[in-house]
Amino acid sequence: MSSGTMRSLKRRVTVRDNGCCYVCGGEDADELEHIIPVSQGGSARDLDNLGLIHSEPCHREKTAREAVEGSRRAREKKIQKEDRKR
Ligand SMILES: [Zn+2]
Repeated sequence: MSSGTMRSLKRRVTVRDNGCCYVCGGEDADELEHIIPVSQGGSARDLDNLGLIHSEPCHREKTAREAVEGSRRAREKKIQKEDRKR
């Protein structure tokens, strides 16, 4: 997606949400964020999947949470595979 597309999407979401962060509800959120990450099947440019977020601390905390969940999922997948071998 081009940065121009991101800019126009961000403008639309900012108007829709009055600039409020979808994580904490606070104003002046400065980043456009996919609510369901594209890597997890979320739509890249569907406005329903886009929200505003504060880059600090909300986005950083969300990224950290997703990293933990991602590694847990990877571990579970590995365990399932080993179960099948037995
Ligand atoms: Zn926030």
